[in-house]
Amino acid sequence: MTSDTLPPVPPADVLVVGAGLAALRTVAALRDHGYDGRVRVLGAEGLAPYDRPPLSKHLLDRPSPTWLADDLGHDLHALADEVHLARPARRLHPLADGGAVVGTDEGDVRAACVVLATGAHAVAVPGWQARTLHTAADADGLRAALTPGRRRLVVVGAGWIGAEVAGVAAAAGHDVTVLEARDAPLGTALGARIGALTAPWYAAAGVDLRTGAQVDRVDDEGVHLADGTHLPADAVLVAVGALPATGWLGETLPLRGRAVPVDASYRVLGAAGPLPGLLAVGDVAVRRSARHGWVPGGHWDEAMHGPDVLVRHLLGRPLDRPEPAPYVFSTQLGHDVTMFGLPSPDDAVRVLGDPTGAGWTALWSRGDVVTGVLVVDRPRDVGAARRLFARADLPRLDLPRDPATPLPDDLRTLLRT
Ligand code: FAD
Repeated sequence: MTSDTLPPVPPADVLVVGAGLAALRTVAALRDHGYDGRVRVLGAEGLAPYDRPPLSKHLLDRPSPTWLADDLGHDLHALADEVHLARPARRLHPLADGGAVVGTDEGDVRAACVVLATGAHAVAVPGWQARTLHTAADADGLRAALTPGRRRLVVVGAGWIGAEVAGVAAAAGHDVTVLEARDAPLGTALGARIGALTAPWYAAAGVDLRTGAQVDRVDDEGVHLADGTHLPADAVLVAVGALPATGWLGETLPLRGRAVPVDASYRVLGAAGPLPGLLAVGDVAVRRSARHGWVPGGHWDEAMHGPDVLVRHLLGRPLDRPEPAPYVFSTQLGHDVTMFGLPSPDDAVRVLGDPTGAGWTALWSRGDVVTGVLVVDRPRDVGAARRLFARADLPRLDLPRDPATPLPDDLRTLLRT
């Protein structure tokens, strides 16, 4: 046996920084795979791990957090030796022989292995009197601002979260306006052509969508647009994206964009390769994938399933499945939306089915390689897309060269032809 083929030596102890989904799943995976060393957790919000997707989807009908202990059955306090839910990490000092010292207001914590799982934070616009939605406390504040008699909500940004909040608020009888600077909703994620297919959903849900809208400022009178329009509002939500929560790292790690770059084993990549005893997973990380290139965090599935892969590599356990494809789910204005893969803006895109009808599917490709599939209101195509992306490499389909050539109406039929 060479040193390359020897099983890795388990670290003496593990410190998980963060107390969200990726952190909880990391601790649970460590114990599931038999790790019996010391595990400590540092959190920042003073709350047990909870699920973020319901914060928008159930903003008005679920006033308490959805605890992950109930949903996933993992009890963080039973699994970890020490849990500090309100002791945020302030600094990181990587150690040459592995692991790091993490600085907190109550003193330094040293560990042989440190897992960064600090997630993301919502982007706020300095000077705007507007809310963001990322935490349970944010959801409490927004809910309180939307009481009967205070019904006017303006949402800035027609992305995943803006559309979700607009839909639930309109369904509850609020007057909702969504302002989007681009020409179409979801333009960043889906591109203008496919994003535009979701625009009619707004009017159908009773939401006033204004695209190409440039917001100048938000003050206590509401939203002022660059063209002079004034929109009075009882609450303004800015939903223009999230950024990895890496501010506390200072200059200690080379970041990619704002995220911590990791390899397929979730090892943090320094200038000269993986840093010993330093791992990152979930929204805070951007993962190098042989199949998809750089895969950003930002979606639940990566925080849910990445930790098991991380722990298997850390402890030398075999992987039990190919790398999962990037996967996003959302409920947008009454429509179920599921996205697989990571298409790039230059990829060709085709629509299967009638986008004004009951359900449809968009397929992105580069040559004969399928790079992404979006499924709207079609559970059976979700299954087909999942099977398509379950292989070790990107799927290939014998598609007509001319994107205007008609294709079958759904992905299931296309895969049979
Ligand atoms: P987080 O859940 O952000 O957890 C990170 C934790 O680290 C937080 O508790 C934070 O307080 C803590 N922390 C931060 N800094 C520090 C520090 N310095 N020290 C210690 N602790 C720290 N994804 C989907 O795929 N589909 C959806 O429909 C969907 N809906 C969403 C709706 C909303 C409103 C939001 C906000 C997100 C949604 N997401 C969705 C994204 C999904 O929730 C995230 O991808 C997932 O929560 C990431 O988990 P995480 O553990 O990496 O990060």
